[in-house]
Amino acid sequence: MALIAPEIGIDLGTSNTMVYVRGRGIVVSEPTIVVIDSDNKHNVRAVGDEAEILLGRTGDKLVAVRPLKAGSIVNFDMAEILLRYFIRKAIGVSHVIKPKVLVSVPCTLPMVARKAVTEAATLAGAKTVYLIEKPFAAAIGSGLPVYEPIGSMVVDIGGGTTDAAVVSLGGLVVAQSIQVGGMKMDEAIVNYIKKEFQVMIGERTAEEMKISIGCVFPPEEEMTMEIKGRCLLTGLPKLITVTSTEMMDAFEEPVERIMEAVHQVLERTPPELVADISSNGIVMTGGGSLIRGFDKLVTARTGIHTVVAENAIQCVAEGTGKSLESVGEMKDGTMNLSRRKQIN
Ligand code: ADP
Ligand code: MG
Repeated sequence: MALIAPEIGIDLGTSNTMVYVRGRGIVVSEPTIVVIDSDNKHNVRAVGDEAEILLGRTGDKLVAVRPLKAGSIVNFDMAEILLRYFIRKAIGVSHVIKPKVLVSVPCTLPMVARKAVTEAATLAGAKTVYLIEKPFAAAIGSGLPVYEPIGSMVVDIGGGTTDAAVVSLGGLVVAQSIQVGGMKMDEAIVNYIKKEFQVMIGERTAEEMKISIGCVFPPEEEMTMEIKGRCLLTGLPKLITVTSTEMMDAFEEPVERIMEAVHQVLERTPPELVADISSNGIVMTGGGSLIRGFDKLVTARTGIHTVVAENAIQCVAEGTGKSLESVGEMKDGTMNLSRRKQIN
């Protein structure tokens, strides 16, 4: 039996959680959801993938809980249950030595919320808990030269948050986290369809539309999708056809907020680092960056060449995992806090 404490990196996302085990890579990737009995919250029915299958079919007896909202723990007990499940799944229950755990958090997460993450992970079975800021992990995961005296910029669009940051010399130089991500895009679709078609659709349908025909920059080819919803006028099912151009209209508000965050970060970045970024480009990560045309939109609005990382969804988990090697050097429990110029 191994006597060395296992080292694991956890990307605790609002939508999905991934666990990286040092020496093995990403071993678990499942939705951040717990399903419990509605009359007894201690009776946990399913976590992760199994919970997602139950979602929408929960009826009156079961409730689905998302323990995180906008990157912050909103249901502490459920977060602990979820973390215990993920840690056990990653390293097995037989491990006698508790693991060293590094968890990624949004870069402007307040101290109390950081404490909640540390406590939940400790109760879930971690020996020691360290935190890493998401955009820093994303930058490492996407292979940017984070320890060099060069400015690199990353924009991570997750389910509940978007983190934009400039990284240099092993730390965040300027960072901004906003509570807008893929889920706000889904909500924007639901509201748009209600307003323009007088039809009510669910958030899962909205997410499918976002992934199939969603775009944030004029598409080369118009795409359409037929969806079924409930007509608000008759109360009956109704079939409608939605186009990718209509999706662009639907996304306007959340997309503008993301672009504003990107601009604010660039505005506050020292000129030398802006020069580096304009030569080396901006890298986008996170599931939300996969919406068609995001790289083109950021390129058009900033004048800086922007690409979506190849492993966009895994970047934060991979960066968290790769950082495990320097965990021993961390003193205050959080990496990269000192050099940041925060935007509020
Ligand atoms: P988090 O780290 O916050 O859990 P992720 O980075 O896993 O989030 O991204 C989740 C978000 O990405 C969800 O809102 C999901 O709908 C969206 N997403 C995943 N794949 C795609 C895709 N191919 N196109 C557009 N959005 C996507
Ligand atoms: Mg993520």
